[in-house]
Amino acid sequence: MNSTLPLTAPGQVTLVGAGPGDPELLTLKAVRAIGAATVLLVDDLVNDAVLEHASPRARIVHVGKRGGCKSTPQSFIEKLMIQAAQEGEVVVRLKGGDPFIFGRGGEEVEHLQAAGIPVTVVNGITAGLAALSSLNVPLTHREHAHGVVFVTGHAKPGDSGTDWAALAHCAREARLTLVIYMGVSSAAAIQAGLLQGLPAATPTAIVQRASLPQQRHAGCTLDQLVETLQAERLGSPSILVVGDVVSGLAQLRQPAGARQVA
Ligand code: SAH
Repeated sequence: MNSTLPLTAPGQVTLVGAGPGDPELLTLKAVRAIGAATVLLVDDLVNDAVLEHASPRARIVHVGKRGGCKSTPQSFIEKLMIQAAQEGEVVVRLKGGDPFIFGRGGEEVEHLQAAGIPVTVVNGITAGLAALSSLNVPLTHREHAHGVVFVTGHAKPGDSGTDWAALAHCAREARLTLVIYMGVSSAAAIQAGLLQGLPAATPTAIVQRASLPQQRHAGCTLDQLVETLQAERLGSPSILVVGDVVSGLAQLRQPAGARQVA
């Protein structure tokens, strides 16, 4: 079982969460695994600064695959990992945030295990956690929310995707904060769906490039989400947060013409 495996070893793959961007948010385990790697396969949301922990002799392969942009097919990345491990390399797969939160880490583990490659996983700080912490706002606050939902705005091809209206009803009834990943390009559908179950005035926040020096955010109400993304020129990668926990940020928003972005 995994628990008996070392963190890294020749012939083994370690999936490592590189965190949301700030290299100081790496775990000590991540730093140790990166330093031990002879081959690193790196996603495009990983800050290059984390590669300073890599050995100068390590082979670094960038395998970014952002939606719609130039991409390395997932099957090719999996083949590369398997091949490098079979050649006896110490393989580290560096993924943005946490490898098991919308990072396709689960699929990679399944493929590696099917090929008989031992694999270990190192958690990272997921972007949805970093987004609000950087603004001193909690995702749960007992005055405002009983829990939190991490949800994707980007469905796999062939999948009808999230039922936003159902989720909105659930969030309202159960007092849940919604943390939406990959939601920028489908913001109009998300806004329309959520408005079927949540009030128009529900506080909403957009946090772009959380934890990085380029971080920007805006607060608004749910019915202003699309308008705010456009007006403030906020794009991907961003986390959208919907719920009363961000009411302090929503209040910061000024009427049209006097908008404020941090
Ligand atoms: N495994 C990653 C998520 C991968 S999905 C994690 O745990 O964070 C990619 C999405 O994550 C982006 O579209 C965006 O919604 C979000 N994201 C990743 N890094 C981000 C950052 N620094 N700031 C805001 N959103 C980010």
